[in-house]
Amino acid sequence: MKPRWAAVVGYPVRHSLSPAIFREICRATGRNLEYKAVTFRGSQLAKALDAARYGPWVGWNVTLPHKERIMDMMDSLSPDAMAAGAVNCVEFRKNHLVGHNTDVTGFTVPLKRAGVTLPGKKVALLGAGGAARAVCLALKKHGVGDVFILNRTLHRAAVLSSEFSFRCTALTAKNASGAIEWADIVVNATSAGLDGRSSPLPRGTTWSKPNTAYDLIYRPRWTPFLKTAERAGCTFFNGLGMLVAQAAESWRIWTGARLPERLLERVEWRLEVMVDA
Ligand code: NAP
Repeated sequence: MKPRWAAVVGYPVRHSLSPAIFREICRATGRNLEYKAVTFRGSQLAKALDAARYGPWVGWNVTLPHKERIMDMMDSLSPDAMAAGAVNCVEFRKNHLVGHNTDVTGFTVPLKRAGVTLPGKKVALLGAGGAARAVCLALKKHGVGDVFILNRTLHRAAVLSSEFSFRCTALTAKNASGAIEWADIVVNATSAGLDGRSSPLPRGTTWSKPNTAYDLIYRPRWTPFLKTAERAGCTFFNGLGMLVAQAAESWRIWTGARLPERLLERVEWRLEVMVDA
């Protein structure tokens, strides 16, 4: 039988870890799926989708900068994609294109796996971009107690906080120290740390409590934010678990099959090696 196709689509996608994740999943499950990394500029996206609609595609993972623009090109949207305002997974359901957001499910999987429960918890969320929006949605869905959003640009945090009925403040050293002292879980959903040097925590921030720290960044997997958290005695996670979990959720949407936990752990371990190389 001819293979079906799936891809990660973005601009650029050269450094994406998705092909490695799905290669490993296909090998383990024996599924005849060819997974590619495809570079499209924004102007090419609509045409490419129209052509793909009638091809042997099962799905696309969508990465920057197309996650928001592609929403208008879908025939329908899942409730998570609609509420998150972004699509990171396209399902080719016959000739019908369905937009999903698997970051919402992906975010909670590593917490659940580690036995960290969300109902009633206090969360300090750093950042107010696309990833922070998906995190807000996941927190809301799982009955979190209270959320403080801290962002460098206050008005972006204000938009998010009013939408989800959370609280917000500017990301200053004083506010960050106070929020960390108050929170059970501190999430970094900013892009500060991608360079391995910068931290979202302004100079002078104190981390006074051994709470749970979760950095959505996975490359590098050991960020200045996590190093500060480790020094404070925190339990901590990087973004690799979420990355693998959102891929597993895409797989479930495309094939109907849930992947075994042992396989996901193995994929994550392989990615750790790749990220460190
Ligand atoms: P985005 O929409 O561009 O938002 C970036 C956020 O980072 C904004 O809140 C921005 O603040 C803040 N920021 C940037 N530089 C900063 C700095 N030096 N200090 C403080 N705040 C800073 O990006 P995104 O799509 O939300 O992605 C955010 C991060 O999540 C990225 O690192 C991405 O790799 C990661 N992510 C991981 C996964 C996963 O599966 N693990 C999934 C999705 C995203 P302003 O509003 O002030 O500009």
